[in-house]
Amino acid sequence: MHRLVVSGTEAGPGEVRHGTVRVGNFADGTPLEIPFILMNGTKDGPVVYVEAACHGSEINGLEVIRRLVTQELDPGRLSGAFIFVPVTNVVAFNHRMGHTLFDQENMNRVWPGKQTGGMSERMAYHIWEDCIKQADYVIDLHTGNSTLVPHVVYMAGKARSREMAKVFGIEVLVQEEVDPAWKEKRFGGKLRNTADEAGKVAICPELGGNQRFEEPRIIEGVRGVLNVARWLVMIDGQVEYAQAYRVVQQAHLTQVKASKGGALIFRVKSGERVVKGQVLAQVYSPRDFSVLEEVASPMDGLVIMTADNPVVHTGELVAMMGAILEEF
Ligand SMILES: [Zn+2]
Repeated sequence: MHRLVVSGTEAGPGEVRHGTVRVGNFADGTPLEIPFILMNGTKDGPVVYVEAACHGSEINGLEVIRRLVTQELDPGRLSGAFIFVPVTNVVAFNHRMGHTLFDQENMNRVWPGKQTGGMSERMAYHIWEDCIKQADYVIDLHTGNSTLVPHVVYMAGKARSREMAKVFGIEVLVQEEVDPAWKEKRFGGKLRNTADEAGKVAICPELGGNQRFEEPRIIEGVRGVLNVARWLVMIDGQVEYAQAYRVVQQAHLTQVKASKGGALIFRVKSGERVVKGQVLAQVYSPRDFSVLEEVASPMDGLVIMTADNPVVHTGELVAMMGAILEEF
């Protein structure tokens, strides 16, 4: 039986236990600590780490974890263990923000953290050391804006990561190529990359929009984690795969931006397949309603998301694109 101890809290066989990772304190003395939930099975098996709200406004995963812990999973019938962190960036969560207010940091760019670093680095450091180091599998639950196509990010060239993403059961898989230049562009330090480099199998599901509980996305997230548990034979049952899959390339470098400021009228919807040169949106002048620009797709591919707010300035995001690599 796996001995499951995190920050001095131990969950025995068939037990669920709550504890906190201690990071420090706020100026007024309030402790800065991050709550976790341990669920230890009665039989041997892998350790799966599941976190949500590393970006504090991305909360669908919190509700996913609540349902898993209180309704779906039974430690008495579990092989292996789960370590759940429902609110990873507690500071950003309290401010209803994505990033940490006090250091202006994106916590998903600082993994595996730094013991003597800033607030976000220290939160990441203590979670990494106490929780993630003992996990074999990592599921980092995120969300995006309201138009984001639900998808699961996996690491390019890593068969287990890709299989885990497929098993999660969402139709769009995003293959993330680790670009050496990322670290300079501040795209490094993501949990999925860091966990992968540490020999763990990691995925990052993007489940719908921020600042809200979206029922269909929550259902997909619950099913996804249960599917992973079935795949790893931690629980009984068959994996429920998606009907069809589309594999697209990571969309960081394919942001489409407006050259003219104005108001956007979209000609396509998020999730639509488009060809190079196809008009994604028109920008019109709020002064005389003339069309100032037709924003065209720079590539064949899938529209991953569109701007939430139709008011754009020069240089602001209109849409994100992904190149379709494979369909099956
Ligand atoms: Zn996020």
